[in-house]
Amino acid sequence: MREPEADLNMSRLVSIVERRKRISEELRNRLSSYAKARAEADPHSRRKPRPCGMTIHTGIGCSYRCLYCYIFDMGFPGKISTYPLTPLELAYALSLNPYIAPGYTLAAYGSVTEPFAPETRKIAVEYIREVYRWLQMPSQVSTKSVVDEELAKALKSAEPNLSLLITVVTLDRYRELEPGAPSPSERFVGASIAVKHGLYVSLFLRPIIPGITDREAHKIVKMAVESGINSVVIGTLRITPSIVSRLQSIDPAIGQEVLRRAPKQFHSIRNSRKQIAIRGEDLKRKIAAIAKDYGMKVYASACSANIDAHNEYCYACHYGPCGNPSRAPQFYDTDITDFLEYLGFKHISVEINDDTVSIRLSGGHETLLEIVRYILMSTVRKRIVLKFK
Ligand code: SF4
Ligand code: SF4
Repeated sequence: MREPEADLNMSRLVSIVERRKRISEELRNRLSSYAKARAEADPHSRRKPRPCGMTIHTGIGCSYRCLYCYIFDMGFPGKISTYPLTPLELAYALSLNPYIAPGYTLAAYGSVTEPFAPETRKIAVEYIREVYRWLQMPSQVSTKSVVDEELAKALKSAEPNLSLLITVVTLDRYRELEPGAPSPSERFVGASIAVKHGLYVSLFLRPIIPGITDREAHKIVKMAVESGINSVVIGTLRITPSIVSRLQSIDPAIGQEVLRRAPKQFHSIRNSRKQIAIRGEDLKRKIAAIAKDYGMKVYASACSANIDAHNEYCYACHYGPCGNPSRAPQFYDTDITDFLEYLGFKHISVEINDDTVSIRLSGGHETLLEIVRYILMSTVRKRIVLKFK
């Protein structure tokens, strides 16, 4: 649900940026000085979106303690607490973020915490509600919690087209791999409740744990289909040395297989906390084939499910095009030129193709180029090639 950008005195992209500023102004007037300062200092007000969209943190840390999780290498604790901003403060922080285009930039909840853990579930729903209410960012949330009737209803009213990813990567070994999480069978019961309430639910088969997820894929996919899920996001494992040693501790053979699939550079960074993806294209293909046999739609990326859930279209990366071509955003070279001039750039030439926008420009501040890239990628939804002289 995008608010019309039309302003007769402005081109459409300029109008989108101006709308973010107006939203910001309106929110600012509703907050105390203390609340404003807290939101302005928060990283949501300046962090760049990730490929899946703008990641929004509903909590700090996670009590599910999955062995394959990278958040512990990032310094997050194994106990969850709610994120310190109120929902309105969060919406305000996001409205200040220059990389965000209201109505277009995707929002992803749950990348570094579990949103619906008992401690964070209430605030997570309110975050989704307020962010959608103010900024209409197409939203997605990934969870290992059980969605009950109350939560499903609340989510549907907070963001009617929410993309809900239910994570299951093992049925038989979840107790070892995800010691604090509810059982996968309960998660699937929750998925069927969410489907019944009209949410767009996908199975999140990420990360594939080699030797576990690929062997159980048939059973997992079958259970997902039986609970009414008809799409799946599949993704490989990212490792750090401590993830490898945790996996080795439960099963040396799994640890060996993960190491065999690790790229060369992993072996030279033994003490690093950097996450590196293992080779897993063969496993992805195998699981995708199983899912297709069950009639599922297979997504190579989480954002692709989000785009489908909102009946939108995107061709911003090589996985695309994703979504509904008849909903491709219609922006013209004049919209882009006006936007770049508004930011102070000069000598602009713009060429728009099916999947790419190529821009030459000069003048203006080089520091604004990243803002240009992110705003154009999420609005025009094509790859952006910038040449700055
Ligand atoms: S539920 Fe998610 S955030 Fe929490 S430990 Fe598991 S993978 Fe990490
Ligand atoms: S083309 Fe698809 S996979 Fe790529 S960014 Fe867009 S939605 Fe995501």
